[in-house]
Amino acid sequence: MYQDLSLDRFMQGLIKRNPGEPEFHQAVHEVAESVIPFILDNVRYREAGILERMTEPDRSVIFRVVWEDDEGNIRVNRGFRVQFNNAIGPYKGGLRFHPTVNLSILKFLGFEQTFKNSLTTLPIGSGKGGSDFNPKGKSDREIMRFCQSFMTELYHHIGPNTDVPAGDIGVGAREISYLFGQYKRLTGEFTGALTGKGIEFGGSLIRTEATGWGAAFFMQAMLAHRGDSVEGKTCVLSGSGNVALYCAQKLMQLGAKVVTLSDSSGFIHDANGLDEDKLHWLIDLKTRRRGRIREYAEHVGCQYHEGTRPWGVPCDLAFPCAVQNELDQQDARTLAVNGCQAVAEGANMPTTVEAIKVLHDAGVLFGPGKAANAGGVAVSGMEMSQNSIRMAWGAEELEHRLRDIMNGIHDQCVHYGENGELVNYVRGANVAGFRKVADAMLAYGAI
Ligand code: GLU
Repeated sequence: MYQDLSLDRFMQGLIKRNPGEPEFHQAVHEVAESVIPFILDNVRYREAGILERMTEPDRSVIFRVVWEDDEGNIRVNRGFRVQFNNAIGPYKGGLRFHPTVNLSILKFLGFEQTFKNSLTTLPIGSGKGGSDFNPKGKSDREIMRFCQSFMTELYHHIGPNTDVPAGDIGVGAREISYLFGQYKRLTGEFTGALTGKGIEFGGSLIRTEATGWGAAFFMQAMLAHRGDSVEGKTCVLSGSGNVALYCAQKLMQLGAKVVTLSDSSGFIHDANGLDEDKLHWLIDLKTRRRGRIREYAEHVGCQYHEGTRPWGVPCDLAFPCAVQNELDQQDARTLAVNGCQAVAEGANMPTTVEAIKVLHDAGVLFGPGKAANAGGVAVSGMEMSQNSIRMAWGAEELEHRLRDIMNGIHDQCVHYGENGELVNYVRGANVAGFRKVADAMLAYGAI
C-alpha cells in the first residue's frame, strides 16, 4: 500500500477524506512534500502508515456556545477543540476567537502545531480550538459571559495532563483569565490547565513577549548562520498584536529598524523607525484601549496606507505576523526585487505556497512559522513546568531558555534542511518535527 507513496496520490486521498478544507490541505501539502522523500528512505515509517496517521486528528470536539449579549439577546456560536496528536505530550495549542474560525482552519493550525511543538524539544503534543465568535466591538461583560459559556463545555475535555489550551488570535490575557476562572469554578481545582495566565495566578513571565521575541531570535540565528546579523537592518512587519509588537521590540533591542505595522484596515509606515516610547504607546493602544493602528500615524505624524499590506515597503527583513495567507506570490516578488534578504513567519502560515517558492528561487532565506514562531508555545511549555513544580522562574532565566530553544530549532532545521549554500528551512522544520513524533508513535506499536 505504501510502496508507491507519491505526493499526488497522498493528497488525493487526504482531500477525499477531508473535503472542503482548503487550509488544512495547504498545510498538509507543504509538510507531505518535505517528508515523503524522507519516509521513502525509512521503511519503518512507510510500513506503519505514519503520515496517514499524523494527518488524522485523534479527535475533534464541536459544541454549542450560548451566551447573552448586553441587550439581553440570546446568541449562539460554535466552539471547537481539535486534539491532534498526543504522542509526545498532552495536547497543546491555542484557542482562536474569530469569525473565520471553522474546522478546516483549526485542523491546519492543529496539524502545524504537531511539528512546531515537537521542534521545541519540550514534551508537548498538539491541538487547537476556538470559536467563530467575533470579539470585536463586544463589551468586557459580553466577553466574560462568552468565555464562561465556552469553558462550561470545554472543561470536560481539558486538564494539565490531557490538553492544555492557550491564547491565539482574539484570545489574550483577558480571555484566558475569564476562561481559567470558570475552569477553576467548575472543577474546584487550581491546576495548570491553561497557559498564558496572569502572573498573579500561575502565569509565566515573558509569555506575552515570547512569540515575537522568538521570531526575532530565529531571524538572528538564520542570519548568524551565514555570518550576518539583524543589526542595522530595516524590517517590515505586519500585524499589531502581541506577536508583531514584541517582535518589533526585540528587533529594536538587537539594533534593527522597524518601519511598518498593520491591522486588518491598513498599515503604518514610520520611516524614522519605532523606538521604545512609540512602542509603549502602541502597546497601550492595542492591549488596553483596543484601538486601530491608524491612530499611531496620527500620533507620530507618519504615513498610513488604508486597505493595503506593507510588503511594498523596501526592507532587508520581513516578518508576516498577522494571519494566514497574507503574503502572496506578487508580494514575494516585490520583496525579492526590493532586496529583502530574509523572511521569518511570526504568524501561522502567512505565506502562500507559491510565495514560498518565489522566495526560495530568489535566494531569500525563509523561516516557516512552525520554527520561527515556536517561542510562544515554548514558553507555554515552561509555564506548564513551573506550574507542575509550583515555582516561578525569573525573566532572565526564561529569556535565556527561550533563546536556547530558538537556536536549537534553528540547528535542527539546518541539520535536516541543509541544501548547498541556502538552507531549506521548510524541509528542515518539517522533517525534524516529523521524526520525533513519528518515532514516538512507532515506539507505541506499529498500529
Ligand atoms: N497560539 C500559539 C501558537 O500558535 C501558542 C500556543 C500555546 O501557547 O499553546 O503556537
